[in-house]
Amino acid sequence: MAGAYETTNKYLQQAFDVLKLDSTYKTLLWTPARELRVELVIEMDDGSIGNYIGYRVQHDDSRGPFKGGLRYHPDVDLDEVRSLASLMTWKTAVVNVPFGGAKGGIQVDPSELSLRELQRLTRRFTESVIIAIGPDLDIPAPDMNTNAKVMSWIFDEYSKHHGFSPAVVTGKPVELHGSLGRDAATGRGCMLAIREVLASAGRKLEGQRFAIQGYGNVGGWLARLLAEQDARVIAVSDVKGGIFNGDGLDIQRLDQHVVETGSVTGFAGAEAISNETLLTVDCDILVPAALGHVLTQHNARDVKAAYVLEAANGPTTFEADEIFNERGVVCVPDIYANAGGVCVSYMEWTQNTQKTTWTEAQVNASLEQHMVDSYRAIAKLQDEFKCSLRTSAFALGVRRVKSATDLRGLG
Ligand code: NAD
Repeated sequence: MAGAYETTNKYLQQAFDVLKLDSTYKTLLWTPARELRVELVIEMDDGSIGNYIGYRVQHDDSRGPFKGGLRYHPDVDLDEVRSLASLMTWKTAVVNVPFGGAKGGIQVDPSELSLRELQRLTRRFTESVIIAIGPDLDIPAPDMNTNAKVMSWIFDEYSKHHGFSPAVVTGKPVELHGSLGRDAATGRGCMLAIREVLASAGRKLEGQRFAIQGYGNVGGWLARLLAEQDARVIAVSDVKGGIFNGDGLDIQRLDQHVVETGSVTGFAGAEAISNETLLTVDCDILVPAALGHVLTQHNARDVKAAYVLEAANGPTTFEADEIFNERGVVCVPDIYANAGGVCVSYMEWTQNTQKTTWTEAQVNASLEQHMVDSYRAIAKLQDEFKCSLRTSAFALGVRRVKSATDLRGLG
């Protein structure tokens, strides 16, 4: 199986092919602009020394400052961060926000650290990459296992050196210059993406059966918003396992259960299933909303859903994607499906730089417009090139980035 970066480059190659790009552009477009690897040494609560490795990969900034999340996970490595940084370049271009692409990560299991240790680690990381981030340079945001609290620490640490700088990160708490609607934005964007894709086939969200892997920021919000649309969420999971109820889960009660127990497992009125089983349950729309590379050549033929909505980044291997295409399973690609987060991050950054605040209704309306317009642009290219949604989304992103690169010229 190809690594994450190789997978992204294979998807890019398909876009290069339909666009008939020459090889000079290919090299230019898939090579990251800058890669930082930093050693993070912190004092642990018990007085011992903690030693961690962090990364920030800046892929492309031809359309605007580098932009992308920061992930805390034991599997973080340079290959994964490179892939995620590249995906951000195409994502910001697909939804037409004036940013480039970057990603960061620390190889750590945050559940093994106290809050104070996590804060020390985050501040040390900020110090180590401070030369490369900034409101007009590179703007981190939350990703797996990082949240508004982590963003507050980065904002505070950066501001110690550069003065009050809320626009250095997005996904901050609303009380600390965050944007209304940012928390729900990625889940809301996913809901809007699948709404548009279904509408193009004459279908509605109402009554569709969803299975969602991952019940964190993205998966949780998506479930809540789908329930509001009378869609049926029949299965969800988290790192501890999954639950299934063919009639649909009561999401309000499930949220209460998660607050009380910290997991979806053990929820009354649902049967326990494994994370692997969740991917192949009988449903209409399968939503990977946790880790990458979970849909592979080993399970793609068993997926029963007609649609795969990529809420997670890079959940589908290249081999699985080929199987889905062959079987007529429609994959709504990550670079469009989960772009709601970066859309509202752009709105947060805009509010910070203009020293103003938007209402939640303004934010949601603008997000909806971005998701609807982007789908129209992707669908138009799909018509033109007779290719998958993924290839047309990549082609749209590549066209926009190439055009900015050409206009700026080589200095
Ligand atoms: P999160 O940390 O809030 O939640 C992650 C969820 O996945 C949790 O429920 C966790 O228990 C579960 N999980 C972790 N390991 C798992 C495993 N091995 N099997 C099954 N479930 C597992 O993270 P998030 O912000 O919701 O991000 C989820 C995905 O969405 C990631 O791929 C991320 O890159 C992508 N994404 C997030 C955003 C955002 O704004 N947060 C934006 C775009 C894309």
